[in-house]
Amino acid sequence: MAFENGIIDLRSDTVTHPTKEMRQAMALAEVGDDVYEEDPTINHLEERAAEVTGKEDALFVASGTMGNLIAILVHCHRGDEAVMGHLGHTFLHEAGGMSALGGVFPHVIQNQEDGTLSLDDVRNAFREEDVHHPVSRLVIVENTQNACGGIPISAEYMHSLRQIVGELGLRLHLDGARIFNAAIAQGVEASELTRDVDSVMFCLSKGLCSPVGSMLCGSKDFIYQARRARKQLGGGMRQAGVLAAAGLISINTMTYRLGEDHTRAAELAVGLDGTPGIEFDKGMPQTNMVFLQLKSDVKKSPAQIESELADMGILIGQSGPRNFRLVTHYWIHDEDISKTIQGFRNVMND
Ligand SMILES: *Cc1c(COP(=O)(O)O)cnc(C)c1O
Repeated sequence: MAFENGIIDLRSDTVTHPTKEMRQAMALAEVGDDVYEEDPTINHLEERAAEVTGKEDALFVASGTMGNLIAILVHCHRGDEAVMGHLGHTFLHEAGGMSALGGVFPHVIQNQEDGTLSLDDVRNAFREEDVHHPVSRLVIVENTQNACGGIPISAEYMHSLRQIVGELGLRLHLDGARIFNAAIAQGVEASELTRDVDSVMFCLSKGLCSPVGSMLCGSKDFIYQARRARKQLGGGMRQAGVLAAAGLISINTMTYRLGEDHTRAAELAVGLDGTPGIEFDKGMPQTNMVFLQLKSDVKKSPAQIESELADMGILIGQSGPRNFRLVTHYWIHDEDISKTIQGFRNVMND
């Protein structure tokens, strides 16, 4: 079906428009002043978010970046260090907010090919109490791990990581922007993947189709402090129940359909397999992201390929100098998958 204008937009799942049902719910939403905690729709959304992640409480925030930043600000003092992967969104794509606004020192270790941080690396990253050292405070992991291929990470791994983090006296934050993709891909409840963390952020505005917003979840005390940090960042919103109304639909219905996006990503990959000049980067898709790489003998530039596809109404993302990322979502249907496969064949064959 693509969008009304017929464009097949595979650049990201952030491009999703709200559904018709969301727009109706938004128009009718009961609202109040959320800084006074009097918006009934937001209060309801926060209860649901806490419930699905198995945490005591939750906070509606403007974006995933704001949710991660607030978590870091609450867990860490100025000068503390946070351990994270070199391919983590918090390290790559959040404008250094933890340092700029929190004085937090990022301690970067390598993501493994399977998206995880090796348990030994986490242990070795920890620094003993010593006046020369920053205070090790926090570990951040991401699920699904976006830049490693949209890889889902298991509850067993999270459990082993928790044990080490616990032994070292650190805290654990999960960047779960796409935690429901990770859950569906593994046939588990999201709460199994969040059980072992102190805090988790997930996005309503990606594959779950809400126009705006993310949820930060944790203990009552953590969320109390997060509410103050959100206010400090200027993120206290007023009658934002119009946004929360869409968020409720995201949690209550959109989480269950993400498997369709994974199936379509797999179909797209199978259809593209063997197209001249391209090969898979990061293996076959495990969730909603297909990563491609141009072979070295391809004469056309990545920009030219992108623009020829755009002329056919197919938008793809660039994930490296000769790498593309194609992301399936609610607005990508079966016929869009076949058109994209055909589009690639045309562009790569001539
Ligand atoms: C998109 C994303 C975020 C940030 O969300 P925004 O709403 O774009 O700020 C954080 N982490 C991951 C893994 C993401 O994919």
